[in-house]
Amino acid sequence: MSHLDALEQDLRDLKLTRLADQLQGFLASAAKQEWDYGTFLGNVVKEELAARRDRRTEMATRMARLPFVKTIENFDFAYQPSINAKQFKELSAVRWIANGENLILLGPPGVGKTHLAVALGIKAIEQGYKIQFTSAQALIASLARANMENRLEERLKLYCQAKLLIVDEIGYIPIDRHGANLFFQLISRRYEKGAMIMTSNQPFSGWGEVFGDAVIATAILDRVLHHSITINIKGESYRLKEKLKAGIVQRQEQKD
Ligand code: ADP
Ligand code: MG
Repeated sequence: MSHLDALEQDLRDLKLTRLADQLQGFLASAAKQEWDYGTFLGNVVKEELAARRDRRTEMATRMARLPFVKTIENFDFAYQPSINAKQFKELSAVRWIANGENLILLGPPGVGKTHLAVALGIKAIEQGYKIQFTSAQALIASLARANMENRLEERLKLYCQAKLLIVDEIGYIPIDRHGANLFFQLISRRYEKGAMIMTSNQPFSGWGEVFGDAVIATAILDRVLHHSITINIKGESYRLKEKLKAGIVQRQEQKD
């Protein structure tokens, strides 16, 4: 075994995998750019730390069960003037998550609610927060199942572990009173402890109908809105815009 092969093996034993993978390249750069010992060691350590951060982000992203990976940088704010890009950049510093506040994104289908929720989730992961993504429907089904199996307490604790819980698509599918009750229990648990992002196609005035009970909906909103930011997104579906551009659908004439 050559001296370099042995070094590569030692690096793998130390789990310094990026270094092991790029050993030849590093040595070549060091020689070419005449790095002194300190610079060489500094660059090597920086690279390995970056690799570790990437791995951690990748793992946390997988565990969060995001439906897709999209970032703030992928979002076209020019197409969506109802969102204040500056406010959103501030939100992406995720200080509100540290404070356990809530963000509610309201608007019709296709305007980017899920995209923005995911993008903020990724920012939170990058800041080291544990996050979890779920649709409202899957969340309530999971709580109802746990309740039937006498494991509600355990499941509620599980949903409280994440520092940020994203509940997507409140309002697409009506929730029965039992489901609303379970959801309320979760909201009470997280209240002032963990941050949440919720997205909905229904304005708050429609949540009574969504939850099948005006009293529970009011109790939920009371807690959710106490420390919160609401963004109302207006405008046309981005999906529609892409179809219009591709000529798959024709724009409907406005009647008034
Ligand atoms: P919603 O959750 O509001 O129904 P999505 O977030 O799923 O909408 O957006 C629908 C699709 O359009 C996604 O692929 C999303 O990435 C994209 N999209 C929406 N708005 C924008 C935008 N302003 N810039 C870039 N992509 C967008
Ligand atoms: Mg969506």
